[in-house]
Order: sequence, then structure tokens, then C-alpha cells
Amino acid sequence: PEHIRNAIILPRWVRINTLVASVDQVIKKLLAMGFVLDAESHPSKLKGKVFQRDQHIPEMLLLPSNIDLHDNPLLLNGSIIIQDKASCFPAYVLNAPRKSVCIDACAAPGNKTSHLSAVMGNTGKIFAFDMDKRRLGILSKMTKRAACKNIEPVLGDFLSVDPADQRYKEVEYILLDPSCSGSGIVGRMDHLIDQDPTSEENETDAAASEARVLALADFQSKAILHAFTFPKVKKVVYSTCSKHREENEDVVHKVLEAQSDFVLAENAFPQWTRRGLPLFDGSSKVIRTEPKEDNCIGFFVALFERKATTIDVTP
Ligand code: SAM
Repeated sequence: PEHIRNAIILPRWVRINTLVASVDQVIKKLLAMGFVLDAESHPSKLKGKVFQRDQHIPEMLLLPSNIDLHDNPLLLNGSIIIQDKASCFPAYVLNAPRKSVCIDACAAPGNKTSHLSAVMGNTGKIFAFDMDKRRLGILSKMTKRAACKNIEPVLGDFLSVDPADQRYKEVEYILLDPSCSGSGIVGRMDHLIDQDPTSEENETDAAASEARVLALADFQSKAILHAFTFPKVKKVVYSTCSKHREENEDVVHKVLEAQSDFVLAENAFPQWTRRGLPLFDGSSKVIRTEPKEDNCIGFFVALFERKATTIDVTP
């Protein structure tokens, strides 16, 4: 069929899990297994037992799209995690410091949670919410394999979490990767395995699909505004694997208008040049990816931060 012939084939991205092995250790092991560094080929043209290093994120490697890693010892011992490059942006730009307290609001199956855990050097704490029990079970298994020790999985609806609850009073960083249409996912059928069951991937009816996108956008804005209500939260990163403006720029624009405590961070991932569609003032502060050009899934990231509190000058 047409959509299969036109499918974009992405390289196989892997993230080095620095909680188990360093970048150098993994590269040495790959070389010992007979892999060769190919710094020359275009990412979409990698062939054979070769790998490349990513130019943006130091712990990302790319391999040929058809490489079989399922029984690779580095995968089995948690040294590497199969994860698209773009899906590593949220934890990377959130950059929660060691010993901080974080929430991953829609966390399962937990790829971004384990990445955030690595960014924090396995210190501090991450409350990882998901309301799907089966998927939260996968998160527990995956984050254990990744050697994460700072994650507490919590079964529940993030929107119902009480920001005044004492357990969350020290939360300063929130990663929010809510259900989305999944319209940015291309290139690999196996992405579907990991995909949110509520995705519209096979939606054919255009009107139903549009209504669904708007319903998702409504949930997405509510979730961001809820994240802003945690008393000590400083930064919230919002992401989707959707290409629709309705779930991306429009959601960001709407929440910026709806409140005045949080703004877009000025300097989120400045070395990434593909920015938001010019749909509102400041849209260049958000990040987009384009599968054909960036060799990763279509993705969107916005980093919000609390405005510096104005100094009270009343005598
Ligand atoms: N961040 C995950 C990762 O990188 O592995 C992928 C998250 S997936 C896009 C969205 C998840 O949000 C699904 O697992 C879904 O069950 C969960 N979800 C949807 N609505 C939710 C809610 N109100 N509260 C908590 N989790 C929710």
C-alpha cells in the first residue's frame, strides 16, 4: 500500500544508559563486538555493523535501521535503551539537578522516566504516574532493568493528584508527555508496540480524527495547567509525538494566555534550529522535529518555567 511505500525509514537510535555504563564503555564494547564507527554516511544510509554518534545528545548512538539488537548483551544488561532521539529531548531540556524531586506525569512505559533518572544521577526522587495499570507494570520492569533507584511508580490519574498533598510539596520539576494523536510517529512499525493505546494511528475518518485531536488538546492543556499548580514547581517540560499544531503550538499558546505565573524558557536547547511554527509570539522558543530532515520521529517540546518572583518593594 501507498503509506508503506512512502514510509520513512529511520535509523535505529539507542540511548546509552549512563546509570549502567559510560559512553566510552559502550563504544568500546561495540567495537569489541565488531561494530565499526561510520562518521561519514548519511544517518538514513547506514549499512551493516556500523554506528554513529549523535551531534546533539552525547549519550545517543545511531545504528542501521534493520540492526537486530534483541539479544545484544548491552541491551539485556541495561547499558543501552532503544529510544528515538527526539523522545530524549524532554528529560534533556528539563535537566533536573541531582537530588531534586520530580514528577513524570504520564510516565509509562517509562523511557523518559529512566532517562530523567539518569540525568539526575539516580539521586533525588521521581514520582512516575500513569493511570494504565498494565503500562505502569511495564514501567516498573523497564526502570528496574535500567538500574533506576529513584523512581516511585504511582497508579493514578495525574489530573486528580492533589498539589497540596505533603508528598509532593518538594516537587520542582515536572515532565509531562501526555497521550497524543501519535501523528508524528513514522519509520518503524515497532514504535507501535510502545505506543499509547489511545492513539489515533489507524483513524481513517477525518472528522472523527479532528474531534479526537481537539479532545486530546483539551486534556493536554488541562494537564499543563495542573502541573503549574504544584507549589514549588519551577520547570515543566511538555512534549508530544504529534505533528498537529492543535496539540502543540495551540496548546502552548492557550496555557500561556490562561495564566501569568509561567512563561516559555528563553534558552531551551538553543543548538536545535528547528523551532515552533510561527503561530504566536515567542513560538521560536519551542522545539519541533521533522522526520525527513532530522532522522527521528516527528516531535514537539516546550519548556515552561516559573517567572522570577518580583521583589516586593512596598515599604
Ligand atoms: N512518557 C512515556 C515514555 O516516554 O515512555 C510515554 C507516555 S504515553 C505518550 C502517555 C501515557 O499517559 C500513557 O501511558 C497513558 O496511559 C497515560 N495517561 C493518559 N492520561 C493520563 C492521566 N490523566 N494521568 C496519568 N496518566 C495518563
